[in-house]
Amino acid sequence: MKIAVLPGDGIGTEIVAEAVKVLNVLDLKFEMESALVGGAAYEAHGHPLPEATLKLAKESDAVLFGAVGDWKYDKLDRPLRPEQAILGLRKNLGLFANFRPAICYEQLVDASSLKPELISGLDILIIRELTGDIYFGQPRGRRTAVDGHFPGAEEAFDTMRYSRPEVERIARVAFEAARKRSKRVTSVDKANVLETFQFWKDIVTEIGKEYPDVELDHMYVDNAAMQLVKAPKKFDVVVTGNMFGDILSDEAAMLTGSIGMLPSASLNSSNQGLYEPSHGSAPDIAGKGVANPLATILSAAMMFRFSLNQAEAADRIESAVKDVLASGLRTGDICSEGTKRVGTREMGDAVVAAITKKTITG
Ligand code: NAD
Repeated sequence: MKIAVLPGDGIGTEIVAEAVKVLNVLDLKFEMESALVGGAAYEAHGHPLPEATLKLAKESDAVLFGAVGDWKYDKLDRPLRPEQAILGLRKNLGLFANFRPAICYEQLVDASSLKPELISGLDILIIRELTGDIYFGQPRGRRTAVDGHFPGAEEAFDTMRYSRPEVERIARVAFEAARKRSKRVTSVDKANVLETFQFWKDIVTEIGKEYPDVELDHMYVDNAAMQLVKAPKKFDVVVTGNMFGDILSDEAAMLTGSIGMLPSASLNSSNQGLYEPSHGSAPDIAGKGVANPLATILSAAMMFRFSLNQAEAADRIESAVKDVLASGLRTGDICSEGTKRVGTREMGDAVVAAITKKTITG
């Protein structure tokens, strides 16, 4: 097993260091190799995704990624901005399925803006298609309108499109994931208005017939956005397109309180994956030693489950995180009355201690 470790910028280096500490106490055989990415790579090599970094990612079974970006790079030409590294990795590794679990840990129920009874026990998985839809559809651009409400006016346009194989493969990923959970899939679309999403709905329904043991329902995206705050526990696996998934996964993420707790995985068809926290490089707290490393540590757990076929290691990490939260330790973002505030390193050390203690006591 080979893991490419790409810490990136801002808090990326701090939180990935803690995840690496956790990997090192698992007693598993794997190789880890680090490389620069994002702003750090731009400073050193003039490009956010240097050839050597891309080569390492391609050769590895999984990529453990921190975060990239800083306001100071906002004036660079778009292809040189740190965030382009993520798009480059997605494209070159063919990462089309984005998994964003939203789990509410019992100890953090009060950190949510929703009533405890609505989110206690919440465990949903949003699967977002990552390579198609209006974000990548061509043509796009600006031009002078020849029709519409204001012919002759300047206008901008994008193209929403999905091909049959793109929808089929993401639908299969969702049904397979549901088989390992409570066997329910909600496909989110806007079939009442958009041709692309009527097509999406038809194909998901067709693929659903291959999975008679999984219950499938369809929901319009506006209703899904409402239901996520009204009765989020109704959902189990949610599958949707790139744009709706982008928005709904952030909405679901915030149900659980802090973005510092949320892992994510992006997979290709051979289960090679990129694992990263759902948050960014947090320049406002970078270098202060206060960032929450748990989203990154939980991303490493997903890496063992989905790309490295080591579900037991994933369970050990996740159970150690629960133990640490139960012991009352909290970083600033999840801190509340009656808990003990700790920094990034202490939180990482506590997870390591919880894993090694369990290993020793069996
Ligand atoms: P952000 O997620 O970095 O930060 C938003 C807020 O959440 C900040 O107040 C930050 O302090 C806090 N936060 C984030 N992660 C935290 C953690 N682990 N522990 C405690 N608090 C945490 O989003 P932003 O401020 O909009 O963006 C900052 C930079 O990150 C930008 O350059 C942006 O482009 C980039 N970004 C990168 C990624 C990525 O690498 N995948 C994703 C989103 C944003």
